[in-house]
Amino acid sequence: MHFAQLIETKRDGYPLPAGAWAAAIAAYLADQIPDYQMAALLMAVVWRGLAPAELAELTRAMLDSGDRLPAPAPGQPRVDKHSTGGVGDKVSLVLAPLVGSFGVQVPMMSGRGLGHTGGTTDKLESIPGFRTALTLEEVAAQLDRVGVAMFGQTERIVPADRRLYALRDVTGTVPSVPLIAASIMSKKLAEGLTGLVLDVKTGSGAFLTEPAQALELARTMVGIGESYGCRTTALVTAMDRPLGRAIGNALEVEEALLALDGQGPADLLQLTGALAVEMLLLAGVAETADEAERLVADGLMSGGARRKFADVIAAQGGSPAIVDDPGALPQALEVELFEAPVAGTVQSIDPRILGRAVIAMGGGRQRLDDPIDHSVGFVVSARLGAKVQKDEPIASVFAADPAGIEAGLTALRSAIRIGAAVPTGPLILHRVTADGVTPVAG
Ligand code: URA
Repeated sequence: MHFAQLIETKRDGYPLPAGAWAAAIAAYLADQIPDYQMAALLMAVVWRGLAPAELAELTRAMLDSGDRLPAPAPGQPRVDKHSTGGVGDKVSLVLAPLVGSFGVQVPMMSGRGLGHTGGTTDKLESIPGFRTALTLEEVAAQLDRVGVAMFGQTERIVPADRRLYALRDVTGTVPSVPLIAASIMSKKLAEGLTGLVLDVKTGSGAFLTEPAQALELARTMVGIGESYGCRTTALVTAMDRPLGRAIGNALEVEEALLALDGQGPADLLQLTGALAVEMLLLAGVAETADEAERLVADGLMSGGARRKFADVIAAQGGSPAIVDDPGALPQALEVELFEAPVAGTVQSIDPRILGRAVIAMGGGRQRLDDPIDHSVGFVVSARLGAKVQKDEPIASVFAADPAGIEAGLTALRSAIRIGAAVPTGPLILHRVTADGVTPVAG
C-alpha cells in the first residue's frame, strides 16, 4: 500500500493492515517517508485513534528500532517510574535514590523540559559537573555498581521515538492516548525492567487535561507493560497545581534534597511515598503496602536515600557536596518577594502559567539548542486552600535580571487566584493495575 493510502485509511477511521505500522516506521527511519506524510498520518491517529493490534504493532516497531539494556540477573529486581510530565515535579530526584537504597536497580531514564513542563535531565544538570549523557554500557555498569543511574535518552534507545517525538512536538500531535502510550512504553520496555510505575498526570498543567483521558492512558500503558511481562502499576494524579513549592531547575533540586530527609512539602512527600510504595511492591522488597510505607519512612529518616543520591552524583561526575551544601547549586542574581494582592483563600495556582514563565525567564528552552539558566524560577510558599492576608509574602521570584523579576511577578499575579474558600481536589485520584481501576481517596 502506498503511504498516501495509509493516511487516507486512517483519516477515514479504519485500522491499518497488519504489518503497515512496522513498515511505516522502518521507512520513516530510512528517510524514505517525508516528515509531512508522517505528520499527516500522526494527525489522523490523533483524531481516529489506533485499534489494539495497531498499538501493539507500533509499540513493538518503536521498541525494535534501537538497542536495549541487558536484562538484570535472575532474581534482581529492576523497576523504574515514569511521569507523563508536570510543573514542579521533582519526584524522580527523590524516588530513584530512595528505592535504589533497598537494593532495587533503578535505571531512571528521563527527558528534558517539554512544552511548559520541566525535565529531570535539566534539573540534574544544575548539579555542577553532573553528566546525564551516559552510554548504555555506562548505564549497565552503573546499575551493577551503584544500583541507580539517572540519564537522558541516548541516540541508541528507541531512535524512532526521538524522530517521531520531535515531529509531534511541532505538528500539534502530542495529545493522543495511543501515541503517548507507544512513545513512553517503548522507551521504558527498552530498559529491561521487571516492574514499572507510571504517574499519569491530569488537570490544567498536564498534557492530557481531562481525567477520563488520563485514566484511558493509564489503562492503555498498564496493558502494554503487562503484555511484555513487565508488571505495571499506574497512579493517576492531579496536575492542576504545581507539585511542591519550587519550580525551576536548581530550586527543585534543593527542594528534593529536603524531601530526601523527609522534610519537603507535604504533597511532594505524599506522591513520592505513594510511588515508592508501588515500586517496592513490584520489586518484591515489601509484601504489603503497610510494610512498604514503613520502609519508605525509614529510607528517608535513616539517611539511606540521601547517601544513595550522593553516590549517584559522584558516579556521574557531579559534586556530591551539594547534598550537604545546597548553596553550591547555581544561585539567582535577583530575588524578590511576591505579596498577596488581597486577603482570602488560595483557590488555584495555575501550573501552566508558571511553567511557561520559567521558560521565558531563561530556565527552559524556546528552541532545542537554547542554553538554560538553572538558577531561575519560583518558590510558591502559599498552598491551595491556605488563608492569606493582604500583603503577606506568598511566593518568591528568582531571576537573572530585573526584567526576569518583572516577568515572574506578572506570571504570579495571573497564576495565583485568591478568593472565597473552594474545595481542593485530591492529589492521587486512581490506582490502575492489571486487575482494574481503584479510586484513591488521597
Ligand atoms: N512523554 C513521552 O515520552 N512521550 C509522549 O508522547 C508524551 C510525554
